[in-house]
Amino acid sequence: MYKLALISGDGIGPEISKAAKSVIQLIHNMYDVKFEIIDVEAGDSVLKNNEKALPDLSFKVIKNSDVCMKAPIGESAADVIVYLRRMLDLYANIRPSKNYPNIRALKDDIDLVIVRENTEDVYAGLEYDFENASIAIRLTTKKASTRIAEYAFKLAKFRNKKKSVVSVHKANLLRKTDGLFSTTCREISKKYTDIQFSDMYVDACAMNLIRNPENFDVIVTTNLFGDILSDEAAQVVGSLGIAPAANIGDNFAIFEPVHGSAPDIAGKGIANPLSMILSVRMMLDWLAMKNNDNKCVDAAQKIEDAVTKVLAKGIKTPDIGGNNKTEDVTNTILTELRSTQ
Ligand code: ATP
Repeated sequence: MYKLALISGDGIGPEISKAAKSVIQLIHNMYDVKFEIIDVEAGDSVLKNNEKALPDLSFKVIKNSDVCMKAPIGESAADVIVYLRRMLDLYANIRPSKNYPNIRALKDDIDLVIVRENTEDVYAGLEYDFENASIAIRLTTKKASTRIAEYAFKLAKFRNKKKSVVSVHKANLLRKTDGLFSTTCREISKKYTDIQFSDMYVDACAMNLIRNPENFDVIVTTNLFGDILSDEAAQVVGSLGIAPAANIGDNFAIFEPVHGSAPDIAGKGIANPLSMILSVRMMLDWLAMKNNDNKCVDAAQKIEDAVTKVLAKGIKTPDIGGNNKTEDVTNTILTELRSTQ
């Protein structure tokens, strides 16, 4: 039995969390991967009656669980997810982007992953005001650069696709911080002779993600650049609404959509649940690897297949050109999952 801490979040968070819960419940009932879901309070709604967006009790529950899923949070996102990433040392943020049937993308044959360093850069929280100026300190360490580079090369090996890693930075301007990141990635690349390695400046990468996204396999980059490029990559394959993500450390992980709480569509029943459902898929992959659990491998693949089939049938929310509701998409996925058992 896996203890799963679930933060339902703000905006469209509760709507897509409901969808994810029903998928997890079905996996629990039909595929013999057992979950105990523990609802955890965090975010803007909690902040209304609380001092902290992530109360101490919530943090404790997350720490004592096997894994966590988090729906998007509104204004207090930094106080929840940035805090959790740092406190739990979830150093690798993994953000895949690929084509799915019936979703208009900029190109075909896109299958890339952004590996974003998740604990440093301007997210280290070192920001100060002076009389007429403010500064933010951008932190880069050898340790964090080494482990994220290692993660990227191992992932490229495991994926066995184009077998390439591109290190994305701005070392021509940020000579110290990105200089360290880029030389560290190059050093690590020497250990992985079967993986093709190259460097790319972040501005060139932003352009190439639009010009030839199909050429990328694994992109490894620093925290802020990874945040921005992954929103771009999500749109290149169709929508933020299909973009899942993982925050991974040595012993714990949190899975969440790439996007924010989308207040513009909250409560309308049209949020795309796929970002959250594909995050469930990523969670199952991680549990499979961590616990050598073949049932999780099977369940993860079943979710991927069900999502692909439902999209092929043209059941989709407005963000990807459909006219279905969140519930229609979720229910069709559940029906697909039931039929494959
Ligand atoms: P944040 O700053 O918290 O990342 P944001 O203001 O950048 O948030 P998002 O909430 O990520 O914005 O949303 C950006 C756009 O993408 C909005 O128009 C939103 O409606 C759309 N969007 C995001 N997620 C989804 C989803 N799951 N389904 C449909 N549309 C979505």
